[in-house]
Amino acid sequence: GEPVLEIKNLNVDYGLGDQAVRAVRDVNLTLHRGEVLGLAGESGSGKSTLAYGLTRLLAPPGVITGGEVIYHPENAEPYDVLGLDDRGLRKFRWAETAIVFQGAMNSLNPVHKISTQLNDVLEAHEPKMSAHSRTARAREMLKLVGISPDRMDAYPHQLSGGMRQRVMIGMALILQPQVVIMDEPTTALDVVMQRQILGQLIELRERLGFSVIFITHDLSLLVEFSNRIAIMYGGRIVEEAQATALYRDSLHPYSAGLLGSFPALRGARRELTGIPGSPPDLKGMPTGCSFHPRCPKAFDPCAGNIPVLGNPDTPDGSARTVACWLHPVKQPVA
Ligand code: SF4
Ligand code: MG
Repeated sequence: GEPVLEIKNLNVDYGLGDQAVRAVRDVNLTLHRGEVLGLAGESGSGKSTLAYGLTRLLAPPGVITGGEVIYHPENAEPYDVLGLDDRGLRKFRWAETAIVFQGAMNSLNPVHKISTQLNDVLEAHEPKMSAHSRTARAREMLKLVGISPDRMDAYPHQLSGGMRQRVMIGMALILQPQVVIMDEPTTALDVVMQRQILGQLIELRERLGFSVIFITHDLSLLVEFSNRIAIMYGGRIVEEAQATALYRDSLHPYSAGLLGSFPALRGARRELTGIPGSPPDLKGMPTGCSFHPRCPKAFDPCAGNIPVLGNPDTPDGSARTVACWLHPVKQPVA
């Protein structure tokens, strides 16, 4: 499909000068129209930093130190999000690309009714819309995310956690963005509720035609709900593949470790093994392949040389990107 968002050679640091540590390193990733792209990795792998970076929502001391984020609007020329001024950014965020944050269900304003909060978003972004149309759009959005419009005038504390999460998703969709980024949107909910909300989101995507970047540490959820998956470790993408291909045979030992850390929801049962050790400290990134101290398959070149990310030969000929010395690349990623 056509690209809607192209991340090119993106680098994000925390801190400046001697104090700087690199949290996102040379990331290249393309989101295509209508697709669900999953982004997985343990906490500290850089996946949230990537999401905040590409929407320019990084809080200091986070700084983008290089790269481009090319956004393709529906009927206009593509542009680099990193070059937008404040006015352009305000329009880009929410109306073009909306983000649902980690713990978002607790970020509704407790002193305002749901209806007021939905109305405020519309009033701020679409000032020409009539009060009547705003109410109609808010009702429609709530219905779409499975909340009866009767609950419009409830306060957040009068709704369950799952309902508050649905309201947040409705709020993200209310301006009909092309891209929705979800950063661990459902981790505070139980597994059944998580799957229900995600299933509903995928259905909405088919109906409304937006694309999704879905970020989580739970790879089994991604296998079920995404078309394509990118795995991050130590700030880099280490493997990227179609969800089904990744599940069938992951090439990078870290991907295999992550797959072994969560119960599979479908398909053959896997023994839960987890990954020994803990994610690297950004301040003291291991040399060579940053996964080598934890890798069960580490061999000669791993500690001394950073593996190149690129396309290797795959058993089934499927498109695959990986950075691991076990899988020599034929074509490096730019
Ligand atoms: Fe393991 Fe070496 Fe591959 Fe890194 S490059 S994942 S250490 S085998
Ligand atoms: Mg995170």
